[in-house]
Amino acid sequence: MNSVILDELYKNLGKYVTSERMCEKLGVSRIAVWNRIKNLQKLGYKIEGKRSVGYVLKEEAKDILIPYEIRRRLNTKIFGRKIEYFRLTSSTMDEAQYLLEKDPDAHGTLIVAEEQTSGRGRQKRKWLSPRGKNIYVSLIYSPKHMDVSDSIALMFAAAIAIKEALSDFGIEDAKIKWPNDVMVGDKKIAGVLLETRSEGGVLTHAVIGFGVNVNMEEMPEELKDSATSMYLITKTQIDRATLLSNILFYLENLISLLVSEGREKIFELWKSHNNTLGRTVEIHSNGEVIKGIAKDIDKDGFLLVDVGGDVRKVVTADSVRFADEG
Ligand code: ATP
Repeated sequence: MNSVILDELYKNLGKYVTSERMCEKLGVSRIAVWNRIKNLQKLGYKIEGKRSVGYVLKEEAKDILIPYEIRRRLNTKIFGRKIEYFRLTSSTMDEAQYLLEKDPDAHGTLIVAEEQTSGRGRQKRKWLSPRGKNIYVSLIYSPKHMDVSDSIALMFAAAIAIKEALSDFGIEDAKIKWPNDVMVGDKKIAGVLLETRSEGGVLTHAVIGFGVNVNMEEMPEELKDSATSMYLITKTQIDRATLLSNILFYLENLISLLVSEGREKIFELWKSHNNTLGRTVEIHSNGEVIKGIAKDIDKDGFLLVDVGGDVRKVVTADSVRFADEG
């Protein structure tokens, strides 16, 4: 019902639409229309009502992250065409996993939350997810034919897509830290998380989650030294719906590139946007500390670290720290 009202108001942006017309379009009473309008105003829409004239939407929504606004901006074929929206949830990753249990045909569905109580990073570390400021989403991707060893390329593709979308908003110097973070300088601005399901070496479903710090005007104490937001860099309020639809557009294109040309293509792009290769890193992996120079990624996307001439392959890492001046 909201979308019918919004369609009508957007079609007549800046002009009054009579209450009669709204009632007719919706097939409900004036009071019912008024209640809907009040809800839209609460969401942040600049709608004015005048007795005996009607309602007018004064301007386009600036930063309202509801499915209607995401869809208006979407340029994708499949990604985000179905949206599940939560004002509050434990984690969009959990919601995506529930959805996959109920509906194995959820390919392309985007789960969006305004706030998460248990947003998570890798190794179940907490991802701080305050309300109404940032992007917290999970996308369900169910490939037709994909080897499970391509999974890491999905994670890289998401990080590259975020990097590209950041540059649409004037942030040109974001770089990707192996394996899953998007950084500006030495601060994290976004993180990607991947959960997969597979059968006999074939990837059946992937949940690609990401959090982007967008309009946080201040970082919480525990993240002050390690994280930043788009607002802190650009000093402007960013429209999250536009940012998100741009990320989905880039991601859909990168994943089709992965499918058509193979993961090497994504690895090449990742290499041209990373901040890790060539640096001295200290990696905690399976109870071991590996310190050396990050030389390259191998054909599977794993990190190759030169430890005094001995090249070690890092498949998973609890943490990756830079141990040089950078
Ligand atoms: P680490 O940052 O500890 O090296 P990581 O890079 O793999 O690990 P993730 O596990 O992906 O990070 O994300 C969780 C970590 O990110 C948390 O431990 C915390 O340090 C940091 N973090 C949590 N919330 C945010 C946020 N909103 N923005 C940036 N960083 C965050």
